[in-house]
Amino acid sequence: MRFLTSRSAAAGLLVVFGAVRIFGAEPEPPALRLPKTGRPTGYVVELTIDPSQPSFRGTVDVAVRLDEKTSYLWMHAEALKIERASAKAGGAAIGVTATPRGDQGFLGVAFDRPVGPGEVALHFEYSGTLDETSTQGLFRQKSGDDWYAFSQLESADARRAFPCFDEPSFKTPWQLTLTIPKATTAVSNTPIESQKDGAGGTRIVRFQKTKPLPSYLVALAVGPFEYVDAGRAGRNKTPIRIVTPRGKTSQAKYAAATTGPLLEALEAYFGMPFPFEKLDQVAIPQTVSFGAMENAGIITWSESVLLADPAEETIKLRRQQSDWNAHEMAHQWFGDLVTLAWWDDVWLNESFATWMSDRTLTEWKPEWNMDVARVEARSNVMNDDSLVSARKIRQEIKTPDDIVNAFDPISYQKGAAVLTMFESWIGKEKFRDGVRKYLAAHPYGNATSQDFLRAIEAASFPGVAAAFSTFLDQAGVPLLEVATACSGDKPLLALSQKRFLPVGTPGSEKETWKVPVCSRGGSGAAPSRACGLLSEASGTLPAPTQSCPAWLLANEGERGYYRALYKGDLLSKLLDVADRELSIAERVGLLRDVDALAVGGAMPMSEALALVPRFAGSPSRAIVQATIRIAADVKDKHLLPPDLKPNYARFLTKTYGAKAHELGFVSRPGEDEETRLLREGLVPYIAREGSDPALQAEARRLALAWLDDRSAIDASMATDVLEAAAAHGDRALFDRYKAALLAAKERRDRKRLYSALASFSDPQLLGEAFALRLSSQTDPREADAMFLAALDDDESSLAGWKFLTANYDALIASSPRESTGFTPYLGIGFCDAAGRREVEEFFKGRVEKLPGGPRNLAHVLETIDLCVAARAAQEASVREFLKSW
Ligand SMILES: [Zn+2]
Repeated sequence: MRFLTSRSAAAGLLVVFGAVRIFGAEPEPPALRLPKTGRPTGYVVELTIDPSQPSFRGTVDVAVRLDEKTSYLWMHAEALKIERASAKAGGAAIGVTATPRGDQGFLGVAFDRPVGPGEVALHFEYSGTLDETSTQGLFRQKSGDDWYAFSQLESADARRAFPCFDEPSFKTPWQLTLTIPKATTAVSNTPIESQKDGAGGTRIVRFQKTKPLPSYLVALAVGPFEYVDAGRAGRNKTPIRIVTPRGKTSQAKYAAATTGPLLEALEAYFGMPFPFEKLDQVAIPQTVSFGAMENAGIITWSESVLLADPAEETIKLRRQQSDWNAHEMAHQWFGDLVTLAWWDDVWLNESFATWMSDRTLTEWKPEWNMDVARVEARSNVMNDDSLVSARKIRQEIKTPDDIVNAFDPISYQKGAAVLTMFESWIGKEKFRDGVRKYLAAHPYGNATSQDFLRAIEAASFPGVAAAFSTFLDQAGVPLLEVATACSGDKPLLALSQKRFLPVGTPGSEKETWKVPVCSRGGSGAAPSRACGLLSEASGTLPAPTQSCPAWLLANEGERGYYRALYKGDLLSKLLDVADRELSIAERVGLLRDVDALAVGGAMPMSEALALVPRFAGSPSRAIVQATIRIAADVKDKHLLPPDLKPNYARFLTKTYGAKAHELGFVSRPGEDEETRLLREGLVPYIAREGSDPALQAEARRLALAWLDDRSAIDASMATDVLEAAAAHGDRALFDRYKAALLAAKERRDRKRLYSALASFSDPQLLGEAFALRLSSQTDPREADAMFLAALDDDESSLAGWKFLTANYDALIASSPRESTGFTPYLGIGFCDAAGRREVEEFFKGRVEKLPGGPRNLAHVLETIDLCVAARAAQEASVREFLKSW
């Protein structure tokens, strides 16, 4: 619409001022990327921000080098009101008209005469709003009685903060000056250079000029912050602070204690000091669609993960915070120092930071068993990657939606898993040398996948880049069929590969990969290993043993990105020795493969279920949880025949009930972390899903006690206990939860109660719960927790879907824009053709308006199709297994 308006306005000008032909030549906005007419070489930005006010003002001076003579330049600006624009070239002023164009945030800058090639200085004066719902661009939020303002500019929202060239390849120094209320302070990418009092009770804070940064890594925060000095760390003695809203410094202890050691661990790996002048960790009261952001020198966080009272500093929170901290800090080198050239390489940023965090925590806290967490994450993303609608790691960017979709588990976990596989194949030292080469070749610049692969190959051996590319440039999980061939002189592994496709998929199995395969096995002597590259659809590799292996694991350490399907009796032989010969990570990987293969129809579900009682008594928490995952999939994947619900509940109680009672709901002094984590994963689950009235009554008693006294349940158990009580709860309990929600002062408690309210099974109560989402008494961003929790259960997910479809426009209008793209996922609870049709029909004409929505809808529809097919394939097998329980 705007396009038509500006075109007709330009046509009008032509008639009136026939001589000003330049306006008539106004070009159409670019389809996606800025043309290469010119590039910025530096910005000077001055912003006046009072977080207590809904709008801000700014001026931007940007130096641009024009590569050619032009009278029209494309930049970005979105939701900004440009009040004045001017330009100078060679000392002479040039008339400028700056007009927002199209619907993708383009700004057309028309000069009144052709300029360039050479330097031109552009000046903009403008105003904008501080968003109060979304966390894109510049936004403001309240904590207590105080307002705070923050920025979140990745991936394409710097254009909401200032007119700029909003693509990652444009790296320049930025000079920021903020005029803020005197009672507040400000933080940005660099240390403060100077500050002085300004007019009208303001303070003018000028920050040091930054190292070259792309627009998406510029950041600021303004408010009555308090600061925790976390000391200095690393080769350059980098100063570290934790920046909190007023009154919360006591919640910053863990972050303050751990940031320095993690920074030093990263420096040691990269062989390079922290690349920026300082590091601030800044808490944002509430983030949407992101958890933390790696802005250079100023990492911004969701407060719920960065800060915690001692009682809320749970094991999971400490691990999650450390994981995110290592991830965001790894980005300071990998993303900030060396930046992707374009968003088709999002994986370079995200896969690497995810992988780097895993390996850093593995060394820093061996007792956290990160190798197991890594295997779990890999198996989860292999499920996503089994969809035909899955993205490639390195996916072409054709539309702005593609940029939104690129921040998905494929870019994070699949990429990290593939890096793990190749690191393992070529060796840790060579891989690290390649990483160092890559960073050293592009400091404060840009690079691509090709640059990275070339550096890794140069540090190792030829063929690595080509093999790696087969995982980057095609979607899907390789399924390796594994047999042994022992008739020749030396035993061999006979392998074949195809894409793993679950039953009911429309996909093809033509893809092949160059797969590094490392195996381990035994044949009487001590176990030994062998590695090789499977390059064709089928082939042989040397077996790890001298004689025919008595047992064989085809994925040593579960570091390979593939699933293994063992032929003949290889699986049963492997399971027989699993407790003795396989690491915990290997056993978890094996169980997760069996689960995925059964749900995908490649083996009977009854065989997978038979492993549940067999391994449920393991002393390892991770293995018990892998068995729970198989058991839970019966319900989650809709494989449970309705008449066998009581059998299923008895199966769970008989398998896990004794352990659940032994653990109880309450931790004991001196317990280790694994025991506590097992309690969290097991006890509320059995109370909720099993047939154990005593556990259910205890969950209810504790939930009621928690409503009066928050210390009645460990913080780590509270949400699950509240949900378990709700699953068997009545209106009286519902009313207590609802009243507690509306009275709760802490956001964490409100989120717990929202999840719990969506866990009742009575549709009437669920309807009342969802109605809270549109109530004027609630914050929609918090209340959205209900929709996520509802997906755990058929009744609640159906209630969530009904509420969505009945109130769609109001829901979308009150949602932060960046979260609306996930709306199609609320239809994922269906497992029948009619439900699928309903979801598809409902989103016709709607999904295109949701950022990233079309691909998310495709995932949902395909998931429903697969669910229908899996149920048809496995219901009889599940029935066979459950009927005797
Ligand atoms: Zn990241």
